[in-house]
This record gives sequence, C-alpha cells and structure tokens, in this order.
Amino acid sequence: MRLSILTLSFPLLLSLANERARALEPVPDKLVVLGFDDCNKSDRHFVAEVLKKHGFGATFYVTEGLGFHSGKGHYITWEEIAELHKMGFEIGNHTKSHPNVTRLSREQLKAELTHIEKRCAEHGIIKPTTFAFPGFSNNLRAVEVLAEMGYLFARRGVGPEYPDSGSGARGPAYDPAHDHPLLIPTTGYAGPKWGMKDLQWALRQAKDGKIAILCFHGVPALDHPWVNCQPEAFKKYMQLLKDEGCTVIAMRELARYVDPKKQPKDAYAPIRARVKK
Ligand SMILES: [Zn+2]
Repeated sequence: MRLSILTLSFPLLLSLANERARALEPVPDKLVVLGFDDCNKSDRHFVAEVLKKHGFGATFYVTEGLGFHSGKGHYITWEEIAELHKMGFEIGNHTKSHPNVTRLSREQLKAELTHIEKRCAEHGIIKPTTFAFPGFSNNLRAVEVLAEMGYLFARRGVGPEYPDSGSGARGPAYDPAHDHPLLIPTTGYAGPKWGMKDLQWALRQAKDGKIAILCFHGVPALDHPWVNCQPEAFKKYMQLLKDEGCTVIAMRELARYVDPKKQPKDAYAPIRARVKK
C-alpha cells in the first residue's frame, strides 16, 4: 500500500503545531520588557545593580554612535558591555553609528548590524537577536533586513499612534496577537515629560495578552538631557514594578510567550488600524 505525502505529513504537522502551542507560555498580566538604549555610563555603574537587586531581566541596546568614541566619560566601554552580558543581561543591537535607518540602503543597514555583531563576538557576547530602532525611525525595508539577518524582535517608538514630545511619552502596549514582532511599540519612554503616573498607566495597559514595553536611556542621561531619568526616580519606578508583582524581562525573553514567526501579512496594518481608532 502506498501512503500519500498528505496522509503522512498532516498529522505530523498538526502535532508540531500543538508542540509549538504547548511550548509557549500564556502572557501574564503586568508583563514588562525593559530596555536601555545608547550605552550610557549608568547602564553598568547604576542600573545593573538596581535590576539585579530586584531580579529583573533587561536588554542593553548598544551602539558605537553618539558619543561612544569621543565622550568616554559618559558611555560604557566594550569591556563593561561584556560584563553586563556576563551578569545575565541581554545585549541588543542598536547599530554601529545610530543612523536614521530609513535613510540607509539594505547594504548599509546590514553593515551597521554586522559591525555590532562582530564586536559582540570579539568580546564573548552572543549574537544579538533583538534590535531597537535608533531615534525610533523605521520602515518596511529595515524590517525586511532585520528578518533576513535573523532578528526576532525589534522596538520602535510611541508614534504614530501616540504623540511624541521628544522628551518622554506614552505609547501603545505591545499586542502580540496583532503587532509585527519587528515593529513592537514603546509603551513608555522616560524623560522630563514622563514620570510615575505614566509608568502606572503603562502597567494598567499590560493585561489581556498585552505587554508593557519600557525604554530608558541614561540614569542619568548625561549627554541627552531630553531623555534623562534621575537615579532616585528610577529606583522608585523599579520598586513599583516589584511591589506590583510585575514579570520584568529582556526583549529576547518574549520568545517564551510570543512566536516571532507569527506575523501580520502587512507589517504596518496593525499600526494603521490603531491610528484609525
Ligand atoms: Zn538610541
């Protein structure tokens, strides 16, 4: 008797699909993803200790742009980035030179990403699998390049759904049922115009399968006062996450809850739908 490929493969496919569904954990309420952009000195010299104290995961998005080479007093070194990795934190890709990626060709963006991957390898850091768009600028070409290069999750900004003051803002909660995993919105980023009330608001959005995505820069941000967060305020924010019983993770840990292969056909459709609302 001959068995067709269909009779053999369908039950197999079904069991594989079930396996995948079983492997994913349900998204808990108050799930928070923490990210720190731009290699600020405070990443290693203040933030890491506060996070460790609470047992929080986080991603440090590294770039050699901005003042990385010229303003060493305000930025961490590759040795310190390697220490963050050894402490168990995720090192994410934030490009070599912190450009507006919408102005780059595919090849230029690939070179920007590859540079950071090489530097990570040189310092014993595993290849980054998540990305943060520099200055929050993004387009479909960049999404396609990230996918080609094996990136699983990427964070954009609060807009176009929410207005961006440029110095801290609220944004949408990440909805894995709809959002493209390479266009994850920022639910809140710290700056002079963002504070405790905005953090509490962000946590209230993190329910029914939605996730709060938080972005910080320096604590303090010595070079970029418009995204500054004061150390005392930061301690209070982290204490609130602890007191509220939040699950606080690095971006890569989203893979426990979200299948990054599940993507909308039109990457920007969920964003347009939200803007319409
Ligand atoms: Zn940045």
